[in-house]
Amino acid sequence: MWPLNRSLTGNGNRKTLEILQELADIQIHETPSGTPCFDWEVPPEWNVNEAWIVNSQGEKIVDFKVNNLHLLGYSIPFQGELSYDELKEHLYTKPSQPDVIPYLTSYYAERWGFCMSHKQFLSLSQTEKYTVHIDSTLNPKGHMTWGEALLPGTSNKEIFFSTYICHPSMANDVLSGMLGQALLYNALKNSGPHHFTYRFIWIPETIGSIYYLSKYGDFLTEKMLAGFVLTCMADPGKITWKMSRKDAYTDRIIQRVFKQQNIDYIQENFFPGGSDERQYCSPAFDLPVSLIMRSRYEKFAAYHTSADTLDYISIPHFVEVLELYLTIVREMEREPVYGSNNPACEPKLGKRGLYPTLGAQEKYPDYIDAMMWILNLADGTYDAPAMADKSGMDLELIKNIIQNLLKENLIYRM
Ligand code: ZN
Repeated sequence: MWPLNRSLTGNGNRKTLEILQELADIQIHETPSGTPCFDWEVPPEWNVNEAWIVNSQGEKIVDFKVNNLHLLGYSIPFQGELSYDELKEHLYTKPSQPDVIPYLTSYYAERWGFCMSHKQFLSLSQTEKYTVHIDSTLNPKGHMTWGEALLPGTSNKEIFFSTYICHPSMANDVLSGMLGQALLYNALKNSGPHHFTYRFIWIPETIGSIYYLSKYGDFLTEKMLAGFVLTCMADPGKITWKMSRKDAYTDRIIQRVFKQQNIDYIQENFFPGGSDERQYCSPAFDLPVSLIMRSRYEKFAAYHTSADTLDYISIPHFVEVLELYLTIVREMEREPVYGSNNPACEPKLGKRGLYPTLGAQEKYPDYIDAMMWILNLADGTYDAPAMADKSGMDLELIKNIIQNLLKENLIYRM
């Protein structure tokens, strides 16, 4: 998948998903350019045949074929001969890291450009003419390609995984997420059947999740128990957990698993930047979506540059994060989550013999308190250990009372 030119749309995305189909049963969808989604619309489909700059000696000084980061993403077609001064208006570099090619895009403003190392930029002759050739297409009748895979479980409550497919040749920030999600699907498929339903989507960042939410946001709001955005999973950095916007089931499970596994991690509160969690956690949806990364996007030096290569990432680092995700899934499968059959005010416990003449009350003086906690926390996002944590009460007591409340049909397993 490394050499493919991925973007919001285009053949590189199609080929990427076809390769991932070797690991996961991905259904590939095509959404027409121009499709409205909330305040946005699906952009024209962008494809590139060739793009290069030639100097007056006929040497290609940058070539999209050598590194697809050289071409500004969504560059419009262009042919022409330019002076240095004219050309430099279309050149982008990263002076703070003079050896790397930066990754830049111009999705929603029509322009063309090339990215190169600042070192190379400084070496360009200022007196000669340059020939620019960009053979690209922006098709308003094209499509946005995305993929989805589903592992149905006993429960229709869903665990959701989302990753983006819109970056060209970078390893930590794109390959690790796309591939990690396919491997996770594969591992779960081979370890099934499961209680929960597992949904996986591979979409271009931002416009893909906005489109998906415009179609399925209400469904996700009803069904999603936990969600994750997979990205930046394979670099040498410390594990980072970015929490969801609210105190969600997802966050509680992550915290518990990290504690059980003695993970040394960085914890970040939600902020409305970054990847597709920006959309999933927008106020209309406020979905329980968190991220487990190694170095967080924007925080590693190779981020969005040509230094994010296959050499920058490693299989052991990648596998460690994948195993964490699998451990989290096992924990979610192991500990049932409860909903209430009587969520509007307290149920009348006395008529069910649960209050306060219960024989067990003397044996467990906390019995009534614990029962109140369970009935209150049975909102579809708490399992027994989380109820014990929140209430500060004994886990065994909580579990015993849960069994009684299940028998009385006051609560149910999600
Ligand atoms: Zn990125």
